[in-house]
Amino acid sequence: MKTNIILEDISDGKRYDINDLVKANTGGCHGCSACCHNVGDLVTLNPFDAYNISSHLKITFDVLLEDKFELHPHGKLVLPHLKMHKVSERCSFLNQEDRCTIHANRPNICRLFPLGRVYEDDNFKYFLQKDACMKSHLTDVKVMDWIGIDHYNENKAFILSWYKLIKALTFRVKFIHDDQELKVLNTYLLNTFYRMDLDEQQTFYAAYNDRLPEAKDHLGIL
Ligand code: SF4
Ligand code: SF4
Repeated sequence: MKTNIILEDISDGKRYDINDLVKANTGGCHGCSACCHNVGDLVTLNPFDAYNISSHLKITFDVLLEDKFELHPHGKLVLPHLKMHKVSERCSFLNQEDRCTIHANRPNICRLFPLGRVYEDDNFKYFLQKDACMKSHLTDVKVMDWIGIDHYNENKAFILSWYKLIKALTFRVKFIHDDQELKVLNTYLLNTFYRMDLDEQQTFYAAYNDRLPEAKDHLGIL
């Protein structure tokens, strides 16, 4: 899987909106699981991914960190990723039949593939990753149907907000040279957004929006 790096090289040159048709439909992957192998570095999990998987499996974020997620450095930040099996490099969520065991709750990057996102100002569009899917002759599908996420508008608002937060924080930590200070900041980030303890009545998006102002203040970003 590829994200939006070297965009012109890896895309079909077009940008898609949520209601556009795009040739991304694999028509069912029929035994292929190529994009679920050796992708640990590429599938960064955002807080909604972590919450969604954690609440679906009824397993805490810390238990998932034992064998399904792992923490990777992103410059000076540390963020969770999908964990690949050490020897086979298979995603930990693949079963023996090479099917995703969390398909309905899979991370946003998996959900998009072979699409990616390109961020423009305060918005994003989608692009088709050229030759990324192993299947030939992909067919037209509406972007909205391909992604198939519930509460699309709330999810999009969260993704944009998280993108901006991580971008601002990446800039902010450039000026931190003390390892202990970085460790405290990264622990705060994980505790605040990945170890979220929600009230029964509260949605993930409401809980995230509640935490955001204080977190920005604490992290020293606008
Ligand atoms: S590479 Fe394409 S066909 Fe294979 S599992 Fe991924 S999306 Fe499906
Ligand atoms: S979470 Fe599911 S879709 Fe994503 S890489 Fe793992 S097995 Fe594949």
